[in-house]
Amino acid sequence: MRSTKIIATLGPATDSPEMLGKMIDAGMNIARLNMSHAPADWVRRVVRDIREHAKARGISIGILLDTQGPAIRTGDVAARIPIKVGDRFFFLTRDDSGTVPPGALSTSVGYDRFADDVEVGKTIIVDNGEIRMKVLTKTSTRVECECLTDGSMGSRRHINLPGVRVSLPALTDKDRADIELGLEVGVDYIALSFVRDPADMEQLRSLVAPSPHQPRLIAKIEHQFAVDHFEAIAKVADAVMVARGDLGIECPYEELPIIQRRIVKKCQELGRPVIVATHLLESMITNPMPTRAEITDVANAAFEQADAIMLSGETTVGKYPLQCLEVFDTITRRIERSGGARYHELADLTSPRQKLAKSAVLLANELRAAALIVFTRRGHMARYASWLRPQYSPIFAFTDRWPAADALTICRGVHPRVTPFFHDQPEKTVDAALAQLVQEGVLKRGDTAVILGNVTAGDQVVDAVSPRTI
Ligand code: PEP
Repeated sequence: MRSTKIIATLGPATDSPEMLGKMIDAGMNIARLNMSHAPADWVRRVVRDIREHAKARGISIGILLDTQGPAIRTGDVAARIPIKVGDRFFFLTRDDSGTVPPGALSTSVGYDRFADDVEVGKTIIVDNGEIRMKVLTKTSTRVECECLTDGSMGSRRHINLPGVRVSLPALTDKDRADIELGLEVGVDYIALSFVRDPADMEQLRSLVAPSPHQPRLIAKIEHQFAVDHFEAIAKVADAVMVARGDLGIECPYEELPIIQRRIVKKCQELGRPVIVATHLLESMITNPMPTRAEITDVANAAFEQADAIMLSGETTVGKYPLQCLEVFDTITRRIERSGGARYHELADLTSPRQKLAKSAVLLANELRAAALIVFTRRGHMARYASWLRPQYSPIFAFTDRWPAADALTICRGVHPRVTPFFHDQPEKTVDAALAQLVQEGVLKRGDTAVILGNVTAGDQVVDAVSPRTI
């Protein structure tokens, strides 16, 4: 079984009900909805379709709502505007087209304080690095630039201002509305874009706190400010994403592999699931095969034992979304057989329950157990077991609630299962779980499993670890 989880972003190439079923069958564990491009009706429809597919298959599929965050975007243009090196280009924060020289190129920007945040002489990067411009002059509503690259300006392109802490709030009005929608439809994860410090994550947590539905909160690390405060941010987040698209623009690109490794390693020390995202199979947007460099990049994330790897453009607009899932699946399975970086050996365990999970993982390693079976109501024990990266044993997390199961889809090596719990007869719960795994073909006679979970002893509920031969 594959331990590394696969997240696929949905878009025009993959959002039909039929395609969603194929994506799930090809190994997608979590569907990502990128709110920079997702209208509310679309979100409601795909969430319903995903839940229906998951229910029909009796499996958990996580849903991740990824906020736009304090990102600056250009406005709509009627047709792409071609630009050449040396052209003058104007960004307007309100309709000031009268102040632009006749025939000059321009577009609007959906952020009033854009001119305040840019500095004359600095570089503006548009559309993920496709276009670079140098700021020549500015007024309060107009920024004049010189184009440093050839290209074309489309609608709603993302603008990066490397090294600038933009004055937009951590959660914009759009983010708040999108998060409310996510809580309404019951997404399992919410990712906050352009997190700058722990206070940004805390704002998100207070926003979702009153909801009866509690999604897990993911901090996207995508600029230098977040890198600088990384450990403090990870401590207040439930999971972390190395968002390499923006990170590779906001930080010197040669730093990217070092930042990725530091984050992945620290997450395994702190016990936070970590996602490696963006450009893993970029060439497969148009080609049916990955480049050798992409194969090595995916293999590296699997070797570092990241919890999850993520597809973006490859599955939103790419020509080969199912092949991308197959490539992820094939590479990660192979690398998992060859060992890993074992950063979890640095795990900073603090509670007795975490240490009990460690004893279960050590026992599973010693016995080369066919499965580590965890009974967990809220998912904590399963998360601890995943953190400690059992060497041979897939983790089957049995819970009695679908939301708890869906919230485990990000955790490396965890295969969630939903089953009724017989509270006064724990043996019956264990026997039913074992029977289910035998029926699924996961366990066979003679196999050893390690069981970790709550048992009722008299009128007390205690945690216990025990080996079991099938
Ligand atoms: C990224 O920048 O790598 C990323 C995942 O963020 P987004 O796709 O929202 O720009």
